[in-house]
Amino acid sequence: MSMIEIRNVTKRYGAATVVDKVSMSVEKGSITVIVGTSGSGKSTLMRMINRLVPITEGEIFVGGQNVMDVEVTELRRRIGYAIQGHGLFPHRTVAQNIATVPQLLDWDSTRISRRVEELLGLFNLDPATFADKYPHQLSGGQQQRVGVARALAAEPELLLMDEPFGALDPVIRGKAQDDLLAIQKQFGTTIVLVTHDMDEAFHLGNQIAVMSQGRLLQCSTPEKILTEPADPFVQQLTGTSDRALKLMSLLPLQESMEPAKSGLAYALPQSLSLRDALAEMIWQGVDEAAVQDGEKAPVGSISMTRLLELGRKACN
Ligand code: ADP
Ligand code: MG
Repeated sequence: MSMIEIRNVTKRYGAATVVDKVSMSVEKGSITVIVGTSGSGKSTLMRMINRLVPITEGEIFVGGQNVMDVEVTELRRRIGYAIQGHGLFPHRTVAQNIATVPQLLDWDSTRISRRVEELLGLFNLDPATFADKYPHQLSGGQQQRVGVARALAAEPELLLMDEPFGALDPVIRGKAQDDLLAIQKQFGTTIVLVTHDMDEAFHLGNQIAVMSQGRLLQCSTPEKILTEPADPFVQQLTGTSDRALKLMSLLPLQESMEPAKSGLAYALPQSLSLRDALAEMIWQGVDEAAVQDGEKAPVGSISMTRLLELGRKACN
């Protein structure tokens, strides 16, 4: 069932058409990533979903309801929204920031504090340390996580995120992405996320929407975007030289293992992608590694030769 249906939506500012007849749908419980160059209409398209930007033409349905038929305050409470630069209230503590929407919804105080603690825990922020701090006392990465926690506080069915990790350095960014994936899995939240980082798009997206000059060029699975680009611009955006590595990042090691062997000095978890397995093996300087399950029991092995073969096969 789809959580969002966008039908022929257009946004014009005066004579300028900044979103041009876009149609797409977003499945419940999935992550859709919108990518494209700066000024291509990504933020505008996203902001029409929660009516921060009025729609010029076309229709948007959320949970089967036309957004124009829902009261705007009601719509925004149902839809979480997280933006770059977090937008935390500077004079409210971390706990008070996260509690913003639940308070508007009149949740009782026990339920609110339970939810705040749960979210802080999920984002690896120890409640005893962080609940009573003010935003300026946190690092950029911590502020960003509080921003996302706040957007998730009232258990929204839908979360819109506009370049939420844009300001973070690559290591913290990867960590924030993994946290988001874990939380999305746990709550089954539907997410639409805007980014200009293609690696982020491939890491997070079940579906990738590519925009250029207000038009939606393609909206498909990451695999299809790589292997069947609908437009030269899509092909250019996904790069050509590292296409093999991108494809390998979508393939689970678990499904490509060779039989287990004894005597291998180095082991990899089966949850890795082929790309991460390759990176680990280059870094560790090994030609062959054991593969383990979550309990560290051996379940297979993988060789460099096999990885390269799989990489080549993925490109054909
Ligand atoms: P993106 O998020 O992809 O970088 P935006 O959706 O922010 O792009 O903007 C798309 C285009 O719409 C840009 O050319 C931008 O200048 C224009 N635009 C955005 N908001 C307004 C506005 N309020 N008035 C006029 N033009 C706008
Ligand atoms: Mg934008």
